[in-house]
Amino acid sequence: MVTPLVAGNWKMHTTLAEAVALARAIRRALARVQGVEVVLCPPFVSLAAVARAVRGSALRVGAQNMHHQEKGAFTGEISPTMLSGLCQYVILGHSERRRHFGETDDLVNRKVLKAVEHGLRPILCVGESLEERQQGRAEGVVSQSLLACLKGIGAPGGLAIAYEPVWAIGTGVPATGEQAQLMAALVRRVLADRYGREAAQIPVLYGGSVTPTNTQEFVVQPDIDGALVGGASLDAESFAQIVRLTAQVRSRAGEG
Ligand code: PEP
Repeated sequence: MVTPLVAGNWKMHTTLAEAVALARAIRRALARVQGVEVVLCPPFVSLAAVARAVRGSALRVGAQNMHHQEKGAFTGEISPTMLSGLCQYVILGHSERRRHFGETDDLVNRKVLKAVEHGLRPILCVGESLEERQQGRAEGVVSQSLLACLKGIGAPGGLAIAYEPVWAIGTGVPATGEQAQLMAALVRRVLADRYGREAAQIPVLYGGSVTPTNTQEFVVQPDIDGALVGGASLDAESFAQIVRLTAQVRSRAGEG
């Protein structure tokens, strides 16, 4: 069974001091929790400080984005070479990057390729808009987007996929467990077609208004291995509770 993964996307929140305090509080709250890979994704400027704050613990650190080239005249951008050694993960293809910064599957694919080349583990986000869902196109959109973003990725080691319906992100309106499971199962089928048995190592996460109250509904699903958490990851106790619930559900599933 794949190790569950819970990642906190802090988005454009927290000053340097707030980020360090949040990382320390999460570290304290999770000191005794095992069996879940936990990733904190602060803003770029706080990555080094958060990495220091969690050093010696099981917590991992991730970036929220990355440029697809190593260096060059790209004012304001952050490259994979700058990230490798500083963090282990990078969120790629988040719907906010797609919507506000025009990122396409093709660009996300170039980023995924570069991340892997530099030893960074991509948390690749895919998901449909409300309109696409209402038109009955959710499955087609998500499978096409996934395949396009994974073009040229021959081995999936280190990869995680987050199914994040755009309509559920930051809205307080999560998918139901059933909706999330159907789409996670689709993601799994696409991955299995592409990678065969190796696909079983890839954690498939659900993201979109996850809170401690609804976590169980998602992580009990057979094809969901954790969560990508936005808003609720900014509160140490809420985030820690999401991780604890994930650990509990998984250890029960392991016993059964
Ligand atoms: C996200 O940022 O990926 C996300 C799912 O946000 P939220 O949990 O706030 O919906």
